[in-house]
Amino acid sequence: MTRRPLVAGNWKMNGLCAALPEIEAMGAAYDDALRDRAELIVCPPATLLALACEVTTRGGLGLGAQDCAVAPRGAHTGDISAEMLKDVGASYVIVGHSERRADHRETDADVHAKAAAALRAGLTPIICVGETRAERDAGDALRVVGAQIESSLPSSAPAHIVVAYEPVWAIGTGLTPTVGDVAEMHAFARERIEARLGGGKSLRIRILYGGSVKPSNARELMHVANVDGALVGGASLTATDFIGVASAYR
Ligand code: PEP
Repeated sequence: MTRRPLVAGNWKMNGLCAALPEIEAMGAAYDDALRDRAELIVCPPATLLALACEVTTRGGLGLGAQDCAVAPRGAHTGDISAEMLKDVGASYVIVGHSERRADHRETDADVHAKAAAALRAGLTPIICVGETRAERDAGDALRVVGAQIESSLPSSAPAHIVVAYEPVWAIGTGLTPTVGDVAEMHAFARERIEARLGGGKSLRIRILYGGSVKPSNARELMHVANVDGALVGGASLTATDFIGVASAYR
């Protein structure tokens, strides 16, 4: 089963209009050879989605958002629905990022509802899971991630959903798990996804690794078995670094 690698850039709460030329430069560097080997998407803050859409379309890049509300519309001041994201050109949305789980106390049930909302609107959810440092040190990483998969993925999810394994302690820290730990977790995650969804869907679902991926470690991490791409934070803010990461697939 071949899965097309996906490299997704999560800009988090970074980027003003003046940053759009970086996306333009990513599109310019996303040449046919790389396009043949990997799909690239950028997830800027919601304020830039409408403007970024034109730029990503021109450059052959995909566009994603970083979160969505559960309801499709209504009296939810400040929230943005999956339907609205779709309307401005997004085709992906990250749900359950550890920063949202921590800063906004999002639970697996919230993440499940957001993933279902994304699917309802025709968006592909990138569902994030990952253990904390304390959980890994306690030998609990597999159990924690297994439980997050069980509770965060809608049981009827189609095979085009994406799961991102992001150890919380590796995000923005410069630390990464060993290749052996990544291999163990990704194999385990695929097993748990199969147990959750059944029907062989897990073989088609892309499981991304995220956490301090940069041009210098991307090749090693992206070539681990069951790693189908990367969710990239800091290194997605410039075209040079983001294309440097994606170039692991050249
Ligand atoms: C992320 O924000 O999902 C992430 C993995 O960040 P970083 O690459 O900066 O660790």
